[in-house]
Amino acid sequence: MISQLHILLTYSCTKACNHCFVYSSPEADSKGTFSLQQLDEVIEQAKIIGSIEWIYFEGGEPFLFYPIMIDAIRLAKKNRFKVGIVTNGYWATSEENVRYFLKDLNDLEIDDLSVSDDCFHMTNENDHPSILVEKIGKELGIPVNTLSLNKPDDIPVEDIEIKKGEPIIGGNIRIRGRAAETLSHNLPIKDSIFLNSCGHEELINPMRVHLDAYGYVHICQGINIGNMWEKPLSNILKNYNPVDHPIVAPLLKGGPLELAKTYQIPYKEQFVETCHMCYTIRKDLRSYHPEYLQPNQMYNDQ
Ligand code: SF4
Repeated sequence: MISQLHILLTYSCTKACNHCFVYSSPEADSKGTFSLQQLDEVIEQAKIIGSIEWIYFEGGEPFLFYPIMIDAIRLAKKNRFKVGIVTNGYWATSEENVRYFLKDLNDLEIDDLSVSDDCFHMTNENDHPSILVEKIGKELGIPVNTLSLNKPDDIPVEDIEIKKGEPIIGGNIRIRGRAAETLSHNLPIKDSIFLNSCGHEELINPMRVHLDAYGYVHICQGINIGNMWEKPLSNILKNYNPVDHPIVAPLLKGGPLELAKTYQIPYKEQFVETCHMCYTIRKDLRSYHPEYLQPNQMYNDQ
């Protein structure tokens, strides 16, 4: 039962963090940004689906398209959805500026403002936007959370417990997307026979999907179950059958190891964890199953 839609409002970002799943950066293609009309369509579909409680705006950096985000939040709230935002807090440059942004969000009564604030996002050791956002958010009564992930050298440490399929709010980074290329070196390697299940996303009964402006509906970032500009989102979710999906079915049967075996993808023993192997094998599989492994931004094929 899907209860959360995570809208990747844009692939553009002020930063290009090493751990980013979606290869966001200031150079990202601007075509990967939702228009207001597309967001209206998503919210209409969310009403039809019936089980959606939360709509999250994230990216990329959603504050880069602030007026569009605000109008879409207004529409989502009008339709009684809970609304959350995930931001890197680049706009928290002074108390005055934070008050300016938070005033709108307070008026709209948003339900969660999550600020990424960790070693991956900071440009210097005093760069902690979440402190100012939390302080002023508290005064105004806006629920502000800080998202803080572990340094790669900390891997593998005891991870914090995040239920399968839930958003990552802290603990260890997952080695997928840009992290597979930038952070996997010099980390301990696991024997691939142990990479035989997907431990992090709920692929059978997902509680959330990510949506992007190209229309792709992601069950895990970069694994698509349909395109909502070709078929209504409500139909895509209703007709999702994990055991018939060419990428999800092998993952369910035996994780990334089974995915590699099914499609006879050769690989070297070089994986830090399951997502690292899954992402690497999927990248090699893109030419066989392009319709399920999109868009280019998720795979650094731009
Ligand atoms: S193993 Fe693959 S499908 Fe599962 S969470 Fe990791 S990247 Fe996603």
